Amino acid sequence: MSTQPVPFPAATILGYPRIGPDRELKRALESYWKDPQQHPATTVLDTLARLRERTATRLSELGLTTDHAVPSEGFAVDHVLDTSLALGAVPARFIADGYEPAAPDTPRGIELITALSRGTDRLEPLEMTKWFDTNYHYYVPEIGPDTPLRANPESLVSRYRTTLGTTGITTRPVLVGPVSLLLLSRPETTDAVASHPLQRLDDVVAEYAAILRALAEAGVEWVQLDEPALAADGWSVERTELVAALESAYTQLSNEQQRPAILVTVGYGDAGEDAQLALAHTNVDALAIDLDRGDVPGKKALEAWGERPVVGGVVGGRTVWRTDLARAVETLDRLRAAARGPVAVGTATPLLHVPHDVARETALDPNVTSWVAFADQKVTEVVGLARGVEHGWDAIRDTLDEDATIRAARAEHPATHKAEIRERTAAVQDADRQRADAEQRRAAQRERLRLPVLPTTTIGSFPQTPQIRKTRADHRAGRITEAEYTDAIRAEIAHTVRVQEELGLDVLVHGEPERNDMVQYFAEGLDGFVTTQHGWVQSYGSRCTRPSILFGDVSRPAPITVDWTSYAASLTERPVKGMLTGPVTILAWSFVRDDAPAAEVADQVALALRDEIADLERAGTPVIQVDEPALRELLPLRAAERPAYLEWSVGAFRLATGGAATDTQIHTHLCYSEFETVLGAIDALDADVTTLEASRSGSGIVTGLAASDFPRDVGPGVWDIHSPRVPTFEELAGRIRHAAHEIGAERVWVNPDCGLKTRGWPETEAALDRLVAATVTVRAEL
Ligand code: GLN
Ligand code: ZN
Repeated sequence: MSTQPVPFPAATILGYPRIGPDRELKRALESYWKDPQQHPATTVLDTLARLRERTATRLSELGLTTDHAVPSEGFAVDHVLDTSLALGAVPARFIADGYEPAAPDTPRGIELITALSRGTDRLEPLEMTKWFDTNYHYYVPEIGPDTPLRANPESLVSRYRTTLGTTGITTRPVLVGPVSLLLLSRPETTDAVASHPLQRLDDVVAEYAAILRALAEAGVEWVQLDEPALAADGWSVERTELVAALESAYTQLSNEQQRPAILVTVGYGDAGEDAQLALAHTNVDALAIDLDRGDVPGKKALEAWGERPVVGGVVGGRTVWRTDLARAVETLDRLRAAARGPVAVGTATPLLHVPHDVARETALDPNVTSWVAFADQKVTEVVGLARGVEHGWDAIRDTLDEDATIRAARAEHPATHKAEIRERTAAVQDADRQRADAEQRRAAQRERLRLPVLPTTTIGSFPQTPQIRKTRADHRAGRITEAEYTDAIRAEIAHTVRVQEELGLDVLVHGEPERNDMVQYFAEGLDGFVTTQHGWVQSYGSRCTRPSILFGDVSRPAPITVDWTSYAASLTERPVKGMLTGPVTILAWSFVRDDAPAAEVADQVALALRDEIADLERAGTPVIQVDEPALRELLPLRAAERPAYLEWSVGAFRLATGGAATDTQIHTHLCYSEFETVLGAIDALDADVTTLEASRSGSGIVTGLAASDFPRDVGPGVWDIHSPRVPTFEELAGRIRHAAHEIGAERVWVNPDCGLKTRGWPETEAALDRLVAATVTVRAEL
């Protein structure tokens, strides 16, 4: 063990966007997946190497010039997957199928990552789930009681060496730490469910120790181990056990004779004094804390921590807004006054969740441009603040003054504070969030819609063919006229309606061909939002999203969906369902202003949607779906914060839908999560019908709904639309029967898991045909 660790840099970041400024990684991975003959795994490795070199160079240009200031991350597909491969953890079913553990940055590693993340003909992929309360999804490692582990530090070493060789920059390798890795994992087989997630802690720690030895041998002087799990609640182990595991793991690792200095980071919230004290009791060398969401540690923890460096994560990594520098200065001063050792400046989390560089946004409103900071701008903030820590705040006085000026201009900008919008949200009454009694609504809607038992419907979108995408792109680029665009979209709607009629579905949709993305589409129709050209962030694997920026007070200058929905309705006698994205999801998938309370912003969006619903009703729309797939996603990590969240989120949904007539049937749709834990909140939405993703979570949700006596109509999805596979008639009938039996046929709707936009027409028609046939069969059995 190095008793005198090399000094920790004064400025650092915990991680940087990995996809590349032009989504180079996405393109490389998808080309390889599509045609590995033409684009072999080595082309992915070349891209990874280029991005790695670019990142190191860029970060040093931006001012992270000190040794060990630049993190070296593993990022082909996912950092959690990267760490599991560094531990040699490959699920037995892959080994049984002929796969072998491999270092990630090798051709065999890329093949393995591909199989694990995408599955093969014979093997289900690793499950994917949300990374804390972000919109990033990681691949869940499968580590059970018997999963073999064997450290494979090859790629960690080669990344370090290659970057040093090509750029001269000494980097700091990054891994997910042992405690978080195990908590984020699940056992390989379901019969091991009872096994404790931390049961393998000592085995895992032994492999981390081997990795640390190899890194030290290669000349690495600082390594970063991320323990974000400590900032969250809701694990299946008690907090005290978790903290004890943390202390045990880092005692072992930090007592290793041969190792680099260890930086432990806890991002995504406050680490908690218990965790800080536990780490202080070990010999780890530096600690990074989230001072964007968390607070300066108390006296006790800092005393125990002694003279070791603390990285104050004052620059948030979760939003695109400039850091409030005055606040950061105040926080850093408090930390410096209380800490006995050096204080470095850092980001609160990796910068994975923000786009690369605002400077590339040439079409943004210049005001908004001046208010935001993407990854590169955040690095500059970190570097500037570190200079202030080192030389006194006067050394960066100009920067601080400039920030204050911009902040004041933002506060005064008319778009951030519109009197009529503020008055309207202030005037909202509880009654505005309250519809007529649910049973009364049920009766009125039954009368109006006259649907059969087990009504069939879809979730909204139909296949988005290359032709539709081209139409939208041509329209955007001005290559076709407005009239040509309208005709093309109408033709698509007409086709979709015809197909649904022929299939015999009961409640039809227009198919959403005009929508690029369920949030961006509404952001473009509302005032208070801007969209970016290059603002991509990684969502999972090669998938990226481009969140809109909600910067001002939100209002709806004109109806958004009414024309398309009415056109669809004009083509059929059957009810056509209007389709909106809910306020919570619009917020969750945008970068939301930080200068107004979430509850206020959500209510503004809700009121805009309320007007849209009123206009749809005026146009005769009898059924309106308000999608809230992200309701569960925004649920705070800390249990104590959940009631307040549910209050404003559920409240916003109810405000959006609360003006709907008694005989207007309001649907909502949720997916991407496990809902068993939030059934109460779903009930509180007070929707008439709730459609849910169900096939991926097995029959769990159906059982959960039945067990909780969920009092509303529900459509647990019977077709997993994430794969092109067409379910058999028997499977569909079985699921419908099961739901009808468990929940009661009179409450059940029959529908796919989610929208069909990523599917092709042939499988869509085939599957829906069977879905209707299976429904008819089950109806006859009732
Ligand atoms: N209505 C949307 C669609 O069908 C819902 C998408 C979603 O739930 N993610 O595409
Ligand atoms: Zn969905």
